[in-house]
Amino acid sequence: MPTYDYVCLACRQRFDVFLTYSEYGVKKVTCPLCGSLDVKRRLNRVRVLKSDESRMENMADDFAGLDGLEDDPQALGSMMRRMGSQMGTDLPAEFNDVVDRLESGQSPEEIESALPDLGVGDDE
Ligand SMILES: [Zn+2]
Repeated sequence: MPTYDYVCLACRQRFDVFLTYSEYGVKKVTCPLCGSLDVKRRLNRVRVLKSDESRMENMADDFAGLDGLEDDPQALGSMMRRMGSQMGTDLPAEFNDVVDRLESGQSPEEIESALPDLGVGDDE
């Protein structure tokens, strides 16, 4: 069972919570010291995560800060370029192709139809 590290925003107490994957995000987590519900998961300290997975979580945080990207291919393209530089060297050639197309203003749908071998979703 994974261990999640939390910090209480009310009293700064740090504590561990054991949650199953189905409980996570559903079950209310409260501070064991003061009982506050105002707790925050400390994302980068989750012991069960491998480095790749925590890196993906950081990227998910980047995504969360950028609303409406599907309507703004150029912003999506520049964000993907930033993600690509974080990921390092293992990017398929298609990745740069997609980023170039996004930055030139093509929609994701246009790109998918232009690149049928892309295999969108395989890496998710
Ligand atoms: Zn507390």
